[in-house]
Amino acid sequence: MANTQRRETFLPGFLAGQTAIITGGGTGLGFGIAQALSRFGANVVLTARKLERLEAAAERIRATGGQALAVQCDIRDAEQVERMVQQTEDTFGRIHMLVNNAGATFFSKAEDLSPNGWRSIIDIDINGTFLCSQAVAKRMIRDGGGAMVFITNATPGSGNPYRTNGGAGKAALAAMVRSLAVEWGGYGIRINEVGPGSIPTEAMGAMGENAEDAAARIPLGRVGTPADVADATLFLMSDAASFLTGTRIVVDGGASSGAPRHESAAGPAAG
Ligand code: NAP
Repeated sequence: MANTQRRETFLPGFLAGQTAIITGGGTGLGFGIAQALSRFGANVVLTARKLERLEAAAERIRATGGQALAVQCDIRDAEQVERMVQQTEDTFGRIHMLVNNAGATFFSKAEDLSPNGWRSIIDIDINGTFLCSQAVAKRMIRDGGGAMVFITNATPGSGNPYRTNGGAGKAALAAMVRSLAVEWGGYGIRINEVGPGSIPTEAMGAMGENAEDAAARIPLGRVGTPADVADATLFLMSDAASFLTGTRIVVDGGASSGAPRHESAAGPAAG
């Protein structure tokens, strides 16, 4: 039976006094992560291109007593990224956490992808994520460390037919996580991945993903939620993960672990 019950796992206030930047933090999974980090005391900076949406999201967090700042930034632009990171420091001081969640993709046959359709996604996923990581790492190196979580997907090394651009972007991020984890480990910066399966968000809905179809393929019998992704992120940001770097937590209810061998909960099919 699907287990949807949740008991509070983390210590109240365990992130008090810490500051986190969440790219794409005004919507979907990013907003869920921002809410969770804020709930445990972190100051959160929500950044993306659409300021109005960010402001509304930051206001929702403030309404629950959290400290939230909305900063408009297109992560593909190095100057905008630098300004966003500086504004974070000017507002909250030291930056302890970065969640590289911003990303995009769309369905297209690979042979029909325009050069721009290819480049725009690669630019957000790979270039934008690197620019954010680098700008924040310079401060973390100076300040004595920090933690980053990259939101990739459950199987970033596998093919993503009809989403070749987004799939290539996530595979590159998985490699980037490991390179940076090794390079920056000595500075006390931990870098890990959270790989969500198919999680209903507004963006996924727009791509025609159906929650019921998805649930039928998931061994734990339900689709994931932004809170599932946020919990994995909280763990990776916590001291309980202090010896974890360059690794991935897959949040997909077991969907990527193998094809089911039977079709009903009654048990394995005969033969
Ligand atoms: P989403 O709501 O569309 O989140 C993407 C966010 O990225 C948006 O807030 C968007 O805001 C921001 N963004 C896009 N381009 C940007 C840019 N150039 N600069 C700054 N921000 C930018 O979708 P989601 O479902 O929550 O997905 C969040 C992340 O999880 C994505 O990286 C996605 O690939 C990954 N993921 C999701 C699932 C899932 O099933 N939901 C599964 C695996 C992985 P603006 O448009 O305002 O810039």
